[in-house]
Amino acid sequence: VISAFRKVYLTWPDNQKYAPKSLYMMAKLYRELYGYSGKRQDLREAIERYEVLFERFPKSALADDALYHAANLYWRMGQKEKARSYWARIVLDYEGTDFYKPAINKLGRKRVRQLKAQAKEKTRGSDSNAGKRPTVTAIRHWSEKDYTRVVIDVSKNVHYHQGYLKEDPKRRLPKRLYLDLVPARIAKGLKRRIVIADGLLKAVRIAQYDRDTVRVVFDLGKTSKTKIFNLEGPFRIVVDAFGARYSTRPLCPPPKGKLTLAQQLGLCVRTIVVDAGHGGKDPGAIGPTGLKEKDVALKVAKLLKKELERRLDAKVILTRSSDRFLPLEERTAIANAKKADLFVSVHCNAAPNRRLKGVETYFLNFALDEEAMRVAALENATGNKRIGDIKNILSKIMKNTKVEESKRLAHFVQKGLVNSLKKRYSGIRDHGVKQAPFFVLIGARMPSILAEISFISNRKEERRLRSPKYLEAIARGIADGIEEYIKETELVAQKGL
Ligand SMILES: [Zn+2]
Repeated sequence: VISAFRKVYLTWPDNQKYAPKSLYMMAKLYRELYGYSGKRQDLREAIERYEVLFERFPKSALADDALYHAANLYWRMGQKEKARSYWARIVLDYEGTDFYKPAINKLGRKRVRQLKAQAKEKTRGSDSNAGKRPTVTAIRHWSEKDYTRVVIDVSKNVHYHQGYLKEDPKRRLPKRLYLDLVPARIAKGLKRRIVIADGLLKAVRIAQYDRDTVRVVFDLGKTSKTKIFNLEGPFRIVVDAFGARYSTRPLCPPPKGKLTLAQQLGLCVRTIVVDAGHGGKDPGAIGPTGLKEKDVALKVAKLLKKELERRLDAKVILTRSSDRFLPLEERTAIANAKKADLFVSVHCNAAPNRRLKGVETYFLNFALDEEAMRVAALENATGNKRIGDIKNILSKIMKNTKVEESKRLAHFVQKGLVNSLKKRYSGIRDHGVKQAPFFVLIGARMPSILAEISFISNRKEERRLRSPKYLEAIARGIADGIEEYIKETELVAQKGL
């Protein structure tokens, strides 16, 4: 029965009605299962479904139910602080719902009074219109030599346009890039000026330009090129600034003297970024017996790093080496900042049809078929409809993306993966190379791919994904593909083609 609801959830992961309902039913069934089995794992499974429900669908009528039940289960597991924090959320955010009074009873009147007083203190003086308008909630940045990425977090989709302002020596202002967000406001307490001073950008400033417009100004230093795009779920605007010397070398320089094969290959590809999908609060897809995509991806990424370092004279950087949450834009920011020559993101596939299994490798482009679209929606954590919107973004930024190189890399990696797995395992299905608009690949400056190493939603493949031997075969396969890709690149370079 649980799998039937999982199917519903996987089919409509963003449907405001079906998704919360199916999560709720899954959680309820796990809770009941615990009644028979007494296994703590069943409790944890139930809690996880409740948590996904109220985190992803906070406005659902079931959100307060989910919070309340999750709190009770934590209480039963002895995690009392966690339980109290969930009851507190009901008291603060779900006043008047079914579980408002029960939550108050659980916490006790005294604690509730304290909570409310604290909350009042926090929101005192804040705009009563808060929440209606898109609000700029944060400005984040990463900077390295020759590359800076700034991300503007906005509470919801907002229109924006850009412009440049000339240097103004009289007012001692440098050349500036500005973004106007309309209509928008600035969250209370947001720092109005962020000093970056990394050579490319001096500072980022934000102000309410007029009643409806928020203006973000970038005081430019030695920036020679900027690139602006937005991502969704949650909405954010990404601004990349590049220095004049920022360029990814297209092909390998001709070798000088006698080099080992590994050194020769290292001429073409000096830095590879390996990205383990998901992490932390984002588990990715979850298999029929509870295996999480984030854990599999991390294991494979670590094995792949080892494998590549053994074979190539290249530096291999992991975007994450522990179970932590990393926004998609930070992953490519790392690759861009490190001037990586290749970017490889590792994921597990999942589908409502549990019979589906096999291996496929993606590169960034417009999706060509429904299935590719569905996979992209899953990985982007957005709905299918939203995917249509990003076509605009894509056409804006695709010009500088290495589509052809990415496609070539994807072909080699797919071939390597399938061959490596077929050597030891039966029934390996080869779905080939596909293209789709993956957020995690958008804005990457180097050939970049996303490997869906197996279907975690398929019972047999989930079992295999638990086996270290299988994961090693996958890592070897991806490394084979990368090595072949580099060899061919080098051959082309030597022939001077
Ligand atoms: Zn994934």
